[in-house]
Amino acid sequence: MRDACEDVILCRRPDATERLIALAESYKGKSPDQEQAAQEWRGWAVEKRLEYALVKGMDAYIVADTEEMRASTAERGGRPIGVIEGPLMDGMNVVGDLFGSGKMFLPQVVKSARVMKKAVAHLVPFIEAEKKAGARPKGRIVMATVKGDVHDIGKNIVGVVLQCNGYEVIDLGVMVPWSKILDTAREQHADMIGLSGLITPSLDEMVTVAEEMQRADMCLPLLIGGATTSKVHTALRIDPAYSGPVIHVLDASRAVGVASKLLSDTLRDEFVEQTACEYDTVREARAGKTKSELLPLAEAREKGFAADMADKAPPPREPGVRVFHEWPLADLRECFDWTPFFRAWELAGTFPSILEDEVVGESARSLYADAQAMLDRIVTEEWLVAKGTCGLWPCRREGDDVVLENGTRLPFLRQQVKKSRDRANFCLADFIDPAGDWIGGFAVGIHGIEPHSERFKAASDDYSDILFKALADRFAEAFAERLHQHVRTTVWGYAEGEQLTNEALIREQYRGIRPAPGYPACPDHSLKPLLFDLLGGEAGTGISLTESFAMLPASAVSGFYFAHPDSQYFGVARIGRDQLEDYAARRGVTVEAAERWLRPNLD
Ligand code: SAH
Repeated sequence: MRDACEDVILCRRPDATERLIALAESYKGKSPDQEQAAQEWRGWAVEKRLEYALVKGMDAYIVADTEEMRASTAERGGRPIGVIEGPLMDGMNVVGDLFGSGKMFLPQVVKSARVMKKAVAHLVPFIEAEKKAGARPKGRIVMATVKGDVHDIGKNIVGVVLQCNGYEVIDLGVMVPWSKILDTAREQHADMIGLSGLITPSLDEMVTVAEEMQRADMCLPLLIGGATTSKVHTALRIDPAYSGPVIHVLDASRAVGVASKLLSDTLRDEFVEQTACEYDTVREARAGKTKSELLPLAEAREKGFAADMADKAPPPREPGVRVFHEWPLADLRECFDWTPFFRAWELAGTFPSILEDEVVGESARSLYADAQAMLDRIVTEEWLVAKGTCGLWPCRREGDDVVLENGTRLPFLRQQVKKSRDRANFCLADFIDPAGDWIGGFAVGIHGIEPHSERFKAASDDYSDILFKALADRFAEAFAERLHQHVRTTVWGYAEGEQLTNEALIREQYRGIRPAPGYPACPDHSLKPLLFDLLGGEAGTGISLTESFAMLPASAVSGFYFAHPDSQYFGVARIGRDQLEDYAARRGVTVEAAERWLRPNLD
C-alpha cells in the first residue's frame, strides 16, 4: 500500500493511479476482519491465487504471482509456456464457464482478460528467450471494422472475449479495405474472418468482402456482427454472395460458441448445415411474404402531414453558425443518459434501476463505479475536448425539399407505406413552412480519444480502453442533448424558460427534434456532406467524413433542428422506385448512387 501511494505522489509510474485504485478496491468498505478475509487468498497456493485473480479481475498481484508460478515451474524443469497452458488457462476456463452460464457478465470478463494479458505479457520475454513455439491457439481469427466505418467498441469486446477463450485474434482495426482483410487472412493462415460495422453503408461493404472472398476462391467461415447487421440481411445479401459458411453473430456472448463450433471436427458440418438451412428459411419467408402496400409517391404526398404553420417557431435570436470550442466536460457529465452505456456492455435494463437488478445489478454497480472513477479523471485532467457547431438558416419548403436561402437544397424522403385512413405519410419537409421558415443543423465531436486509447492498449488494458470509448460516446450524446437545449432556450430562443430535468430531456419532453442523417426519419447518410458544408466543413466542425459518411472522431453526433411544435421522429421505411428516381433527381445524383445510399429502404 505504501509503495502504491508513493508511486502516485512521486509520479513514479504512468499506471500508478490505476494500481492504487485497484488496491483500494480490496480495502473498500470493509472492517478490519473483512479486510483480513479479503487478504486471506494471498495465503493460498499460487495456482489458486492465479485463478482467484482472474475470476475477480484483480491485477494488483498478478505479475508477482505469475513470476512465482514461472519460477517454481522452471525449478521443476517446466517451461514458461506451461504457466499459460496450465494454471492461467484453467483460470480463464472458469471465467468462460461462469460467463457461459450467465453467472458473470461482459464487464467482468473483459476485466479478467486484462489480468490474463498482464500475466502473459510478463511471460512473453521468457518464452521468447526459450525460442520454442508458443502456445497453440484454438484458432486464429482476422477481425476488422469494414472500410468507411470507424466504430470499434463492439468489435473490441468480441475480440477480448475470443482471446480470453484461447483464440488468437488478429485485429486490423477500423476502416479496413477488403483487400487487406483477405491478404491478412491468407498470409496468417487464419481459420475465419470476422467483420464488424455500425452504420448502414457498412452492410454493403460486408457484401463486397463476401463477393471478393468468393472471387478469390476462399472457403473460410465469415462472421458478421455489429449494430445494423441482422440475420435477415445476412441471409438475403451476404450469404448468397459467398459459398463458404456465413454466420451472423448476434452479440459478443455468442462469439465463442460460434467459433468453437466452426473449429470443431465433430460439430462444424452440422452447425454450418443448420445455419445454411436457417438462412434458406429466412429467404423463403421473405419471398413469400406479402409486403405492405406502397402508395404512389404523388398519393403519399397528398397524405402528407399538414402542420399548422400559425404555430411555427419565431425567427432565431442569433441566426448563422456558432462554434463552441470547449464545452465544459463537467456540464456534459451532468446530462448523461446511462442506459445505452450499460447496453454497450450487454447489460440489459434501465438506469438507475439496473444498479439494483437481481441478475446484473452487481456487475452493473461495479462497472458504474469504474466509469465514475474514470469520469473523474477525464474531467479533472481534461482528457477530452468537446467541440460543437450549430447553425440556424432561413429556408422554405419546396415539395419534399427544404431549400435554404443560400440555395442549398436538402431533399427528404417521405413514408410511402399505405396507412390506415387518418394517419399521415410523414416527411421532414412537412414541418417547414413553404411561405418561409427556419431550419437548423449541428455537429458535435469528442476529440482527444486517441492518445489515451493508445496508452490503454500499450498497457494491454482493453477494459479501460473499451470503458473509455463507451464514455466518449456518452459525452457525444450528452453534448448533442445539451447543445439542443442551449439552441432552444438561447440561440434560437423559441423555448426560453424551458425547465427540464435530465430524465425529461432523455424522454425528449421538449419542443422540436434533431433528426440525424442515417437514422429512420432521414436514412440517407449522404446528406451529411451538405449539412457539414453549411456548418463550415471540417475546419468549422472539427469532424471529417469517411467514404461511407461515418464521422471522425467516432464519438460524434450530427443532425438537423426542426422547431415546429408538431415535429416528431418517424421512420421512412420502405420506398418505391418512383420516389427513388424522384429523390435522385432532387439530390442531383444518378439513380445508381441514390440506390446505393438508400438500399436499406428500397422496395
Ligand atoms: N439519449 C440517447 C439518444 C438516443 S438516440 C443516448 O444518449 O444515446 C437519439 C437521437 O437519435 C436523436 O436525438 C436523433 O438525433 C436521432 N434519432 C432518433 N430517432 C430518429 C429518427 N426516427 N430519425 C432520425 N433521427 C433519429
